[in-house]
Amino acid sequence: MILLDGKKVSERVLDDVKERVEHLDKKPFLNVILVGNNPASIIYVNNKRKAAEKIGIRTNIIEFPCDVDEKTLLDTIDELNKDNSVTGIMVQLPLPEHINKNNVIKSILPQKDVDGFHPENVGKMVLGLEPYFYPATPQGILMLLDEYKINPEGKHAVVIGRSNIVGKPMSQMLLNRNATVTVCHSYTPNLDEIIKTADILISAVGKKIVRCKMVKKNSVVIDVGIFRDANGKLTGDVDFDIVSSSCGFISPVPGGVGPMTIASLMYNASKVYC
Ligand code: NAP
Repeated sequence: MILLDGKKVSERVLDDVKERVEHLDKKPFLNVILVGNNPASIIYVNNKRKAAEKIGIRTNIIEFPCDVDEKTLLDTIDELNKDNSVTGIMVQLPLPEHINKNNVIKSILPQKDVDGFHPENVGKMVLGLEPYFYPATPQGILMLLDEYKINPEGKHAVVIGRSNIVGKPMSQMLLNRNATVTVCHSYTPNLDEIIKTADILISAVGKKIVRCKMVKKNSVVIDVGIFRDANGKLTGDVDFDIVSSSCGFISPVPGGVGPMTIASLMYNASKVYC
């Protein structure tokens, strides 16, 4: 079994991005909007800021209280869209329930939508056109596969989870790479049987769902899930100890998809379109 070392690969990607930033005429300037005081969101935003600053990307975090109204957010994004010094805009999710997330996402200029969630960027990805940005987590997973020379073409890829940020874009991006893709979700019957047929298995659920020796021999297993177990330890969707004895490649949690997501986001943040 070969460990897909996201920590090591992400460091190489970040070195490349740093070098690319050094040679840019117009320097990237990432603006992150944070609403409320969700502890996980605060950690994610701080991690993004630290990663960006390490590679020479200037950042600005704009904080709002959790009762901010939607119009204030949209007006702020409008100003950032018009500000020529701003090259990237991100809104940390989740947003409070009174704010329509889709209105916020679609108000960001697609050329500054470093998360790749704007309908224009998603639509281009689906049509096989080049979007300004691909969503960070699936793009980071493809970077990891590429690094280990794992080509999805002609393979059966099974994606568990269909969220807009991971499962759906992941399945589309694998399809664009000529994989045969099966997407599973909470209504999928016979999940275990489908998992057994995967050459590439990508699990993005947030529950311990891939257990026992139920994966195909020599398959590639990518664990996107990250959550704390009953003892408070960070863990993923895959029972690593058991599954790693049957598969060919596996990404650990932590140290797999997590650091690749950050590196991929920084790759996006280094792109300057306006
Ligand atoms: P999400 O929006 O909650 O989506 C979870 C998906 O799992 C849904 O599509 C759901 O199906 C499906 N699901 C739930 N129970 C299932 C079951 N028993 N069998 C099959 N499918 C099931 O989550 P997300 O945002 O995609 O994130 C998924 C996990 O990845 C979380 O642990 C998150 O923390 C982690 N994550 C990690 C990174 C990273 O960088 N490492 C990045 C993003 C997310 P339905 O659609 O039918 O409800």
